[in-house]
Amino acid sequence: MPSFKCSDIGMKCGFETSAGSQDELMKRIAEHAREAHGMTTIPDDVLEQVKKAIRP
Ligand SMILES: [Zn+2]
Repeated sequence: MPSFKCSDIGMKCGFETSAGSQDELMKRIAEHAREAHGMTTIPDDVLEQVKKAIRP
């Protein structure tokens, strides 16, 4: 099950999540980024870091 921790991309944030698929995980991350970090869209460079930080 893919999982992600915000701290893995250098955020001072305790958020971590996992989901049944990478698509679902990306949705959860996008939602969290919007609500917790005020990112209405995730910039490409951040998206790259997120993808690298996802644990399969
Ligand atoms: Zn976060």
